[in-house]
Amino acid sequence: MTKKERFDFVIRWFEQHVPDAETELVYDNPYELLVAVILSAQCTDKRVNMTTPAIFQRYPTVEKLATATFDELFPLIRSISYPNNKTKHLIGMAEKVVHDFHGEIPHTVPELITLPGVGRKTANVITSVIDHQPNMAVDTHVFRVSARIGLTTGAKTPLQTEMQLLKYIPEDKVHIAHHWIILHGRYICVARNPRCGECGLRPACKYYNTVVKKELEARQLPLLPSHVMPAAKAKPKKAAGKETTAAKKAATPKKAAVKPKKTK
Ligand code: SF4
Repeated sequence: MTKKERFDFVIRWFEQHVPDAETELVYDNPYELLVAVILSAQCTDKRVNMTTPAIFQRYPTVEKLATATFDELFPLIRSISYPNNKTKHLIGMAEKVVHDFHGEIPHTVPELITLPGVGRKTANVITSVIDHQPNMAVDTHVFRVSARIGLTTGAKTPLQTEMQLLKYIPEDKVHIAHHWIILHGRYICVARNPRCGECGLRPACKYYNTVVKKELEARQLPLLPSHVMPAAKAKPKKAAGKETTAAKKAATPKKAAVKPKKTK
């Protein structure tokens, strides 16, 4: 299978089975999305969604957040990873947005990355979610899943993964492809033991067709059927922490108990 054929299969499969993939962070406007994405670094969306309502209630606008002191904001963020840095970043971000951008959250990657706590990945998330700009945010799931399937080859950094993905994913699908791959990594192609038995991407997956198949053959277990294309079309839930995403619903029942080796 060529790289293009692999991409075509994967995109077709996701379009058919997860047509409405979107972020699981709960937000109402660009300001809230930016706060949530900054908080989500090294933290689950579920935890972030438990934390943001209190923040948005107390600081409903970026102007309000710019007036917060460290001691006021920190208790609201305490339960999230790296609360010290994130408290400083949120206040710094809000001050800069107010002073340099007239209180408007900027909509371009070069502008966004000037804000405290905002790197390339965060800026790509914000711009692709808000405006559907063709910017691919590469987090740990996108990095791992892309390599396993064979969408990327030998990528050593998130930037290399981003560049390789952008070469093959049509511009108008980049914004949703980011969510497809993240949800797949979160619920099916998980880090330790990918659920290949539940995965409809097997026919195109490099890892399955090399590592997993060999293991099954060595253990004389039946190969998993490669033709499975289940027809679930549920929309992923936006609410926090639900594992009932379309990615999961699109999965097929487990066919064999095999534990593929970890990648990397
Ligand atoms: S077949 Fe297995 S390794 Fe490949 S994408 Fe699916 S879950 Fe991941």
